[in-house]
Amino acid sequence: MTSEAESYRHLHFLLIPLMSQSHIIPLTDFGKLLAHRGPLVSIITTPQNAVRYKPTVDAAAAAGLRIQMIPLQFPGQEAGLPHGCENMDSLTSMGLATEFFAASEMLKTPLQKAMAELDPKPACIISTNALPWTQQIADEFDIPRYVFETISCFTLLCSHNILSVENPNSMSDEETFLVPDIPHVIEFTKSQLPETTANSAKKSPENNDHTTSVINQIIKAQLSARGTLVNTFDELEPEYVNGYRKQRQNLWCIGPVSLSNKNLTEKSNRGNKPSINEQHCLAWLDSMEPKSVIYACFGSLCRISANQIKEIGLGLEASNSPFIWIIRGLDSSAEVEKWLEVENFEKRVEKRGLVIRGWAPQVMILSHRSVGGFLTHCGWNSTLEGVCAGLPMITWPMFAEQFYNEKFIVHVLKIGVRVGVEGGCSKGLLVTWQRVKESVEELMNIEDGEGRERRRRAEKLREMAKEALENGGSSYLNIGFLIEDVVQQKLTQLV
Ligand code: UDP
Repeated sequence: MTSEAESYRHLHFLLIPLMSQSHIIPLTDFGKLLAHRGPLVSIITTPQNAVRYKPTVDAAAAAGLRIQMIPLQFPGQEAGLPHGCENMDSLTSMGLATEFFAASEMLKTPLQKAMAELDPKPACIISTNALPWTQQIADEFDIPRYVFETISCFTLLCSHNILSVENPNSMSDEETFLVPDIPHVIEFTKSQLPETTANSAKKSPENNDHTTSVINQIIKAQLSARGTLVNTFDELEPEYVNGYRKQRQNLWCIGPVSLSNKNLTEKSNRGNKPSINEQHCLAWLDSMEPKSVIYACFGSLCRISANQIKEIGLGLEASNSPFIWIIRGLDSSAEVEKWLEVENFEKRVEKRGLVIRGWAPQVMILSHRSVGGFLTHCGWNSTLEGVCAGLPMITWPMFAEQFYNEKFIVHVLKIGVRVGVEGGCSKGLLVTWQRVKESVEELMNIEDGEGRERRRRAEKLREMAKEALENGGSSYLNIGFLIEDVVQQKLTQLV
């Protein structure tokens, strides 16, 4: 252990994620990065999430890191959720999101109780952006809170600036408007904005509803926090990091945190037990040509209709590229299964297509040398994982801040090809198999000058991402600044 790590052993960091894969996964990765630097790290969880994350945390602890989970009973049923629903990925309908957030907030009382008993007392709270109430707990225990942002500085700055647009309310859903005061020309339509931004930007009295109140609470808690940690790295989006830094004190970019996973077990066990045998998956990948495979995955939350799933499958097949295609567990309906069977789909594509139903070891797959492209729904974690693997991407945003990430991938990083969706998936628009095929062909074609450039840019970003987390890199240093800030805050309290 280095002398720096030795000197931080007395510190205890308490990490609190929203119980959703896109929050728990990066915060757990970040917990490992922190524990490498000396502090004890505790992660608040719930019994079912603890089971999913146990292999990750156990492996980190076995490697000598001081990291542990603290499970609290999740008051899901009290809030009106079905029995056993403790993670957003098991919500049977997004209509239950309000109940889910209510249940999350009800964790406040058991958390207060658990914190009072913790020994050593936590020196700070690091909680994800969607949990504004954790600021009150930090205030109560007189410790600093740092917000962990699970989105990019590009998204943070764009949505901040869009909120200053006076009247998008007068616009139709399809009318475009420019994001003010940013260095690139980025246009949006109202229907591409997350519901929260669109509602708040409307600024009309009738929209002073629940969503507006939630976003106001989040902003208020962000402004009271001691600092902001963003899962990105300075070199990826320097203008946006600097732009957003003017809005928030103590902003540190500390990612990409997925690079904390170095060995095969760490990469494959992330977030859930994979529903494919890792060795089988690796053997399949080993049998493919370098950079030839397209990996298609739509994250942990997207609901895709059976008709759309069929078009995706047919498009991947028609592209002639080898592919790995993930059909999320909840989307694998009787209709989809029947179609796969009637079409004899898996047999038909046997030599060059692998279908995974359920949870894929995404980071393990993306980092394999045979993978050459990523068809993604543009969740921020997936986007960054694509960047870390040096992959050009086909962008297919569906909801939340995914349209921001598409603009970032295509117009700022210039490593993407749009599949061509114009609005959220609730619009029910269907991307045809022909368009899926064309976009895969466009992405994977490196004979074409632009295709080659896209790949070259993506590979350069992979190197930059790696350097950011290496000893002396920007994110490595920023994690150090965070820890020092916690030390200083502790000292101030003693005076
Ligand atoms: N993920 C995974 N296997 C899957 C689906 C998702 O490992 O089959 C991981 C993915 O690597 C990422 C996270 O789940 O870390 C999804 O987060 P993201 O922000 O990309 O999207 P969301 O799930 O919030 O839509």
